[in-house]
Amino acid sequence: MIVCKSDQEIGYMKDAGRIVALAHKEIEKAVELGVTTLELDKIAEDVILANQAKPAFKGYQGFPASICASINEQVVHGIPGLRKLENGDIISIDIGAEINGYYGDSAVTLPVGDVSSEGLELIRITEEALYQGINQALSGNRLSDISHCIQSFIEEKGYSVVRDYVGHGIGRQMHEEPQIPNFGRPGRGPRLRPGMTLAIEPMVNQGTHEVVTLGDSWTVVTRDKKRSAHFEHSIAVTDKKPEILTKI
Ligand code: MG
Ligand code: MG
Repeated sequence: MIVCKSDQEIGYMKDAGRIVALAHKEIEKAVELGVTTLELDKIAEDVILANQAKPAFKGYQGFPASICASINEQVVHGIPGLRKLENGDIISIDIGAEINGYYGDSAVTLPVGDVSSEGLELIRITEEALYQGINQALSGNRLSDISHCIQSFIEEKGYSVVRDYVGHGIGRQMHEEPQIPNFGRPGRGPRLRPGMTLAIEPMVNQGTHEVVTLGDSWTVVTRDKKRSAHFEHSIAVTDKKPEILTKI
C-alpha cells in the first residue's frame, strides 16, 4: 500500500532532506585526489549528527557506514574504506538521513580531477534522466510513466539502465512501497496522487545493464566493468509540480 503523507509529514521529510543536502554539499567540497572514501563518510556522518539526525544507512541490513561510495564501474552500495580517489575517477555518493521518524535519501555522481569527456557525459545524462523522471511525477500520471521516461531518455543516448536496483517510496521508512523501476512501458502501476513521496534514482551504465555483486556482499559493479553513474532525489507529488525534498 502506498501511504500518502500529510503536509506536516512532508515538512519532516524536508528537514531530513535538507540535512542530506547539507552533507552532500560538504562532500562535494571535499572530493579531490587522494581523499579516501572513509574520510568522505566521516564528513557526511558529522553533518548528519550535528543536525540531530541519524545516518539512515548505518546498520541498515548490516551496512557498516553512513554513505555509499561507488567508484567508476561500481554501480551502488560501495563501502567506504581506505581507497583513495584518483584523477579521472567518477564517484557516486548516496546519503540517507532520518529525523523525527522521517527519511531523506539522495545521490549524486561527482568527477575527480580531469575526467574524460565520456565520463562527464555519462554523469550529465544520468542527472538529466533524474530530472526527466521527476518531471513525470505528476498527480494523475501512472507510476510507470516515470520509469518509461527515464528508460527512453537513457537508451536514446546510447546508455543502459540497471534493472536489478530500483527507486522506491520513502517517508516513515527509507524504503516504502512502491518500487520505481527505471524501465518499463508507460501507463502502468498506481496513479500518482498528491502526498505520495518517492525516491527516484536512475542508475545508468556505459555498457551492459547487467550487474554483479562483489564478495563483500554489498558492492554492485557492472558485469563488463564499464562505468556507471547514479543520481537520486526524494520528491513529493503535489497538485502542481513535484517538490524536491532533498535540497537546500
Ligand atoms: Mg539513495
Ligand atoms: Mg534510494
